[in-house]
Amino acid sequence: MIEIKSRGQLEAMRAAGLVVARTLALLASHTKAGVSTAELDELAEQSIRDAGAIPSFKGYHGFPASICASVNEQVVHGIPSRTQVLAEGDLISIDCGAILDGWHGDSAITLPVGSVTDAELKLSEATRVSMVAGIEAAVAGGRLSDISFAIESATVRMGDEHGVEYGIVEGYGGHGIGTKMHMDPFLPNHGKPGKGPRLKAGMAIAIEPMLTLGTERTVELDDGWTVITADGSRAAHWEHSVAITDDGPWVLTALDDD
Ligand code: MG
Ligand code: MG
Repeated sequence: MIEIKSRGQLEAMRAAGLVVARTLALLASHTKAGVSTAELDELAEQSIRDAGAIPSFKGYHGFPASICASVNEQVVHGIPSRTQVLAEGDLISIDCGAILDGWHGDSAITLPVGSVTDAELKLSEATRVSMVAGIEAAVAGGRLSDISFAIESATVRMGDEHGVEYGIVEGYGGHGIGTKMHMDPFLPNHGKPGKGPRLKAGMAIAIEPMLTLGTERTVELDDGWTVITADGSRAAHWEHSVAITDDGPWVLTALDDD
């Protein structure tokens, strides 16, 4: 069953989403060489708690922090650490979630640390554009896999434009969100259109493509969390929580002025 939210409940989710959006904006302004991912995590937790919200990642199946900080070949679920100090040329993905009044927001961004290669900037841009394409396909009356197809099509189009074949990370994808962070349905980041549940106003879905400069295969590290690319290639991850409404998709985790 896919949870259907009333307009008022979506507005409550928007409030949670704004906490996440503002936290990620704060982290973006602090992401630079010399800063550890543990410091970013502390800033995130403070920002979330100052807003009267709860960091949803902290304690989630035992995860020890308020953000996932995934650097370079790390794709998702990187554990913030004092010893992971950002260096010029790193590419970091920061994933953040918050609960406000029982409602969840979940969003991720990828940022360059100082100057990175053109290929890495394009990788991040292709991932962001694929997310936006997915968001645009989150419309009432469509099918869930229309979103998957839109993401994959944009990834292929961006790859053609950039002259590379991006890896679409296997085994991970988006998800329903609302009274829990991870709810039905699972949303693959590729696939044929016209399949899966029909999209209805009141559904909320986290749309989150993960792309690499190489393989689509990943390995989980011995810490039980960190997911890295199997070939060591760099990865990018963008995510927004999106509500389906009769007026079209509503990006719950965007800043007001986005
Ligand atoms: Mg996330
Ligand atoms: Mg998510």
